[in-house]
Amino acid sequence: MPERMLKFVSVPQHAPDKRAVTERAVDFDEIYEDFSIKAAELQASRCSQCGVPFCSIHCPLHNNIPDWLKLTAEGRLEEAYEVSSATNNFPEICGRICPQDRLCEGNCVIEKGFNSVTIGAVERFVTDTAFDKGWVKPRKPKRERAQSVGIIGAGPGGLAAAEQLRALGYQVHVYDRYDRVGGLLIYGIPGFKLEKDIVLRRWKLLEEAGIVFHMGVEIGRDISFADLREKHTTILIATGVYKSRDLGGPGAGLAGIIPALDFLTAANRTGLGDTVAAFASGELNAAGKKVVVIGGGDTAMDCVRTAVRQGATSVKCLYRRDKANMPGSMREVKNAEEEGVEFIWLSAPEAFRGDKAVTAVRTVKMRLGMQDATGRQSVEPVPGSHFDIDADIVIKALGFDPEDLPKLWGESALRVSRWGTMKVDHHTFETELPGVYAAGDIVRGASLVVWAIRDGRDAAAAMHKAMSVGATAVAAE
Ligand code: FAD
Ligand code: SF4
Ligand code: SF4
Repeated sequence: MPERMLKFVSVPQHAPDKRAVTERAVDFDEIYEDFSIKAAELQASRCSQCGVPFCSIHCPLHNNIPDWLKLTAEGRLEEAYEVSSATNNFPEICGRICPQDRLCEGNCVIEKGFNSVTIGAVERFVTDTAFDKGWVKPRKPKRERAQSVGIIGAGPGGLAAAEQLRALGYQVHVYDRYDRVGGLLIYGIPGFKLEKDIVLRRWKLLEEAGIVFHMGVEIGRDISFADLREKHTTILIATGVYKSRDLGGPGAGLAGIIPALDFLTAANRTGLGDTVAAFASGELNAAGKKVVVIGGGDTAMDCVRTAVRQGATSVKCLYRRDKANMPGSMREVKNAEEEGVEFIWLSAPEAFRGDKAVTAVRTVKMRLGMQDATGRQSVEPVPGSHFDIDADIVIKALGFDPEDLPKLWGESALRVSRWGTMKVDHHTFETELPGVYAAGDIVRGASLVVWAIRDGRDAAAAMHKAMSVGATAVAAE
């Protein structure tokens, strides 16, 4: 074992510094500072080079973490980048936005007693350095293949599959209804977690590799799904999940009660320089307003922190369970608390007050009850515990469901689960329609970027296998 490693006893964990709250809460730049080379090498040297690396086992991409940590500690950054990018199409993105506390770092063996290796921050540092030094190149194929692939959706799932298939020589066409690539990376996740030029530089590389993007094209509206199938040898559906779960109760239809993704998309588009009428009119802008966000997941955290940055007068987050039972990453909850967000735990909306527009949320206190079949405690209202919270804007961040694709696309042979997610063979990612595959949130339900990348890579491998067999059969005829 090189002397350089196993330093976790003598070197304390040190994550990249966060910018001061007063500075970061007024802009949309990322909140973490960059590691210096020295800091990255030192932090990487804390790894104990486990024979059975639980960090890798719990990374959805099974990244070869101990190897690239060792190479980083030795200052061999170009090799570290080669190893890290061999299993991950977008390591700089995962390094920024994976919930590492639940994945690689949460399972690092030194976590108990010494605090984990800062895996995500090192991964980000290695790839950012690779971009700075010009080591990141478009993955052009060595030989071209005639078969073409149509990918619906330019989110992380679709993009990872596109890059893998293009590197193998396929003619890859990506279709997206948006005008920019990235899916939720560009219009959902705010810049303070993932700056937009990080996503846009990937778009450029993918184009340079020869992937053809058809932006502003919605399948089912601009091109029918049946016509798309005619154009391509195989199809990948990577459309994500976008149907916002709604709120009920008296007053739920009042003006000022808005879906989270409308709010976040308007903020992201404005940050990218687009003119958004509903932002300019104030409808989707929290400036000078009392904001109540309903929900406890990562989308809710992104909404509260966006509202703070837009200059809301107060930002409150209403969640029906307690802090320990929140689905959102604790790191993001802490960031939100530091930035001045008030959490109102164990509270749920019952009704919305107001004449035309919302003015207050009628709220009831909740208490935790018995565990359900999944082990999660149920919640029930506490009788007579009502109170009002003033609000000019209420943001609904209750999660997302899939759209009804078979109906939208007039393709009843596409089968969906009882949750509306696309039914696929879990080994091949193929749907019930031959030659049509699906990956990412549309298969899993709302999940994570790293899982979408994993699915995109696995689906691409299965598509390649099927098309190779097809090609051999044609050649042999
Ligand atoms: P998407 O990213 O949703 O991309 C789907 C694409 O398909 C979109 O570009 C869409 O325009 C396009 N599309 C849909 N229908 C059509 C059609 N008919 N024709 C053409 N194009 C179509 N995950 C993390 O790991 N970390 C985070 O911090 C995090 N934060 C999040 C914050 C928010 C606000 C949200 C909503 C999600 C967050 N997630 C996070 C989850 C993560 O963004 C998703 O799991 C991931 O983006 C799913 O990737 P995907 O490729 O399956 O779909
Ligand atoms: Fe950790 Fe995500 Fe990177 Fe895997 S991809 S090593 S889970 S940060
Ligand atoms: Fe290193 Fe932690 Fe992974 Fe072990 S679990 S190899 S200490 S990063």
